Order: sequence, then C-alpha cells, then structure tokens
Amino acid sequence: TMAAASSNSNQMKYSAENDGLPRDAKIGILGGGQLGRMLAIAGAPMGVRLNVLDPTEPSCPASIAAEQTIGSFRDKAAVLEFAKDCDVVTVEIEHIDCDALDELVKNGIDVQPTPKTLRTIQDKYAQKVHFRDNNVKIGPFMDVPDEAQLQNAVNAFGFPLMLKSKRLAYDGRGNAVAKTASDLDNAVKSLGGFDTGLYAEKWVPFERELAVMVARSKSGEVVAYPVVETVHEDNICDTTFAPAMISNRMAEKAQAVAKSAIASFEGAGIFGVELFLLEDGETVLLNECAPRPHNSGHYTIEACNCSQYEMHLRAICGWPLGDPQLKVGGSVMKNILGDGDGEKAMTKCHRIMGKALTVPGASVHWYEKPEVKKARKVGHITTVGASLNEAKERMSEITGDDYNVQP
Ligand code: ATP
Ligand code: MG
Ligand code: MG
Repeated sequence: TMAAASSNSNQMKYSAENDGLPRDAKIGILGGGQLGRMLAIAGAPMGVRLNVLDPTEPSCPASIAAEQTIGSFRDKAAVLEFAKDCDVVTVEIEHIDCDALDELVKNGIDVQPTPKTLRTIQDKYAQKVHFRDNNVKIGPFMDVPDEAQLQNAVNAFGFPLMLKSKRLAYDGRGNAVAKTASDLDNAVKSLGGFDTGLYAEKWVPFERELAVMVARSKSGEVVAYPVVETVHEDNICDTTFAPAMISNRMAEKAQAVAKSAIASFEGAGIFGVELFLLEDGETVLLNECAPRPHNSGHYTIEACNCSQYEMHLRAICGWPLGDPQLKVGGSVMKNILGDGDGEKAMTKCHRIMGKALTVPGASVHWYEKPEVKKARKVGHITTVGASLNEAKERMSEITGDDYNVQP
C-alpha cells in the first residue's frame, strides 16, 4: 500500500524522474541488530526513517536511529501486524518466516528482495541448487537426508568432508567437518541429526577467501563493490582487506562471478557474496551469498562513495543506485568479539576500541547490544589510508597484529 506515503501532501521524491518511493515512505526492516542499526544510521542523513521489528528488550541496536516494534521477525502474526502500513519491507537477517512475506505481497506490500529470493537463499542447499541451475561457479555438493546418502557423499567427495545445516546457519554454527570416517557420527550429531536437514560439500582447498558486495536495482541493474579479502578465525569473519591483494584481472573475475550470482535472483537490495580463490590462483568458486548487508561490506561506510547500507536503501526504494567505488586507497576492518560474558568482561574490546580513538583514519562502531557475550560480535573497527598498506599499519597500531605490511 502507499497509505503512509500518500497521506503526506508534502511528498519529497529524490528521483529526477519522480519514480521510486517518496522519502517519507514507511520502510520496515525485519530484525534490528547491528546491520539494522547501520541501515538506520545511513538513512538518517537522507531524511529516511526506518521501523524495525526486533524482540530485544529494552531496545535493539537499530533503535538508536529507528523506531522499534518489539516482536519477533520469526513470528508470522507479529510480522503481518508490523508490516501492515509499510510501503516496503526488507530484512537484515534471512532467517525469517517467508510465508508471512508471501502474505504481505498478496496484501500489496512491496517486499525487497522478494520472498522467493529470500526463501531460496535462507536454505543453503536450495541456494546451491539454484546456483548450479543458473551456471554460477560452485563446488560439488550433495543432499544428505540419511546414512546411505552420507556414505554416497563420502564416496564421491572423500575426506575431509564438510557437513552443513541447510537452515539457520551463521558464523559457522551450522558446519561440521569430518576428517575421517570415525568423525561422521559426531559431525551429524553436532548439527542436530539428519532430520534437521543436512547436506555435504566437497572440501574446497582454497588459498584465500574473497567477498564482493553486489547491489541489484528494482529494474535488475547489478553493480559490484571492490573485491575484499576476508580472513576467518574459527569460522567467524575476523578481518577484511580492501581492495583484495589480487591482480586486476582476478578481481574482475571475482566480480563477474558475484554479479552473475546476484543477477540470477529477483528483487532489489544489497547482497553479500562469499568466494573461494583456489590454489591455482585462477579459479573462483562461490561459497554462499546473503540477501542483505554483510559483515564483509562494513568497510564501505568509511571507504566507498556509497556505503552498502545507503545502497540498500536506494535499491529497495527504487532510487538510482550509488557509486560503489573506493574513495580511499585501502581499508582494513576488524571485528570485535566479546571476550567474556557481560560488558564488565569486555576488557580487551575496550582496550582496542580506546586505542583506535588515538589512531588517525580509524573509526569505531559499538553495536550497543543489551547482552554482550563471549565470541559474539559486539562492534568493529575500520581503518582507511592513502594505500592498503597505510590502512594495515594503522590497524596494526590498534590491534598489535601483523598484517604483512610491505616495507
Ligand atoms: P556466515 O556467518 O558467513 O553466514 P556460515 O555459518 O553460513 O557463515 P559458511 O560460510 O558456509 O558458514 O562457512 C564458514 C567458513 O567455513 C567459510 O568462510 C570457509 O572458511 C569455511 N568453509 C565453508 N565451506 C567450505 C568448504 N566446502 N571447504 C572448505 N572450507 C569451507
Ligand atoms: Mg552463511
Ligand atoms: Mg559464510
């Protein structure tokens, strides 16, 4: 419906062609964590106000700049009630009730990206099938509904074997690696058993992990951000380097794979695409994608002409896409994970954040999660510099880590 928009006689439109939603359209976001928070912050300078549905009490991270409705984005009734007077509804997490979103579309509410796209991506196996059907480059994978199929996967892929949960995965929490046949039972058990929905992937002996943010407009235009290199610790993204330390030719190749993946979906928004660069230095395979802003795109806030968050708002409102290019020479992003339970236990986090305040070109982001826990993302730091080398030096000064700075 355009109820919220048309009730305002003084409509403000941003597009020269006067298309797209008015600036004061009602935008609803399912989920109000750190990604919702950064979306809300990006909307503020444009005069765009967001509404988020999130169960966190007393307030979720996004509530710093968004109106929060307390409720679960997994609860169909809560989603329908929250979205009923929204002009467009989007997500900051893909683990949402897609049946509720189908109903919203039936009721004339715009949902971006579309429920069909969200449904495909939220099931990592369905996502892989989709990519295979659309000739996007991925590694071998196989459905594993039972013991017999698990044996087939072992026969086809060998060890180590990567077992993954189809649904509700994040930060590696749905992955289990079996190094030998004797690990298989435990791997299946650790993921909750066959009945929860498992599939297997052939082990990818990657040399590096890359990521590319890609935006898709309502008309299907697709633009790619620079390629970044991501470094994971215990399956959680730890550091990103932009631009990735690869040749222009390889960067173009990675962007092409990422764009082909996102062009295969319908609906508007920003997508994060995770890639593997194989040991041959030539082959790029897609790992997975996310239908929303992504950790590997945090650096875009300080480092690009249009951040991934502003880009997402432009895309879902039907406005012209922004410019994804770097406006600095390079950037490093470091995730800050809780080093204990409760804010008092966050001594290392606080020390690193405090240090960042003394370093030029460094920006701190604290997510204000009401409950901070060990190994959970509580914030991040971004450094920028005239070169990637300078951004690395600055991050090194903050964390004490060695980023292979070139002399
Ligand atoms: P995210 O938080 O990015 O959503 P996730 O829980 O969905 O993570 P994946 O991206 O599937 O997990 O895997 C996490 C990490 O495990 C990858 O970034 C990569 O380092 C490693 N990994 C995943 N699949 C494979 C594979 N087939 N072979 C080797 N390593 C893999
Ligand atoms: Mg994932
Ligand atoms: Mg991943």
